[in-house]
Amino acid sequence: MIREVLRYPDRRLKLPAVPVGAPGPAIRRLAADMLDTARSFPRTVGIAAPQVGELWRVAYVDCTGHKKVPDALGPLWLIDPVIVESSGEEIGREGCLSLPEITANVRRATHVTVDATDLDGGRRRITTSGFEARVILHEMDHLDGILILDRVASLALDVFARKR
Ligand SMILES: [Zn+2]
Repeated sequence: MIREVLRYPDRRLKLPAVPVGAPGPAIRRLAADMLDTARSFPRTVGIAAPQVGELWRVAYVDCTGHKKVPDALGPLWLIDPVIVESSGEEIGREGCLSLPEITANVRRATHVTVDATDLDGGRRRITTSGFEARVILHEMDHLDGILILDRVASLALDVFARKR
């Protein structure tokens, strides 16, 4: 089921989400809805549960087919994700379903290793770099109530109106 995506400045986007533990039927239903919702927007590479108003630590990333990610890992479920290692630093442009009118320059690590629970309940280690690492870090930020506007160095210089 496609859910409504909360938009800034909805205060629920600023709240930290709670850990899931072992994903049960309710989380799997939420995941199915997140997938339907993400797919209802063209070129969407990720979504986090708080964006559909559910304060669980669940995020989804899929960079398959994105021009900046020729060797994408495919669809990734990030339940209770934890950063194990990160390195490098790069400023890159990001968009967000919850801030549809803008893009912003955000500084992120270029390489990350993340441990996360998959929908089947297994714990997985994910290592990636570049744009895919950026997307993972962006979605993980949502689980802590952090938006791209919180990450820009300058609201005047690093936020851009989206071209229509
Ligand atoms: Zn976002």
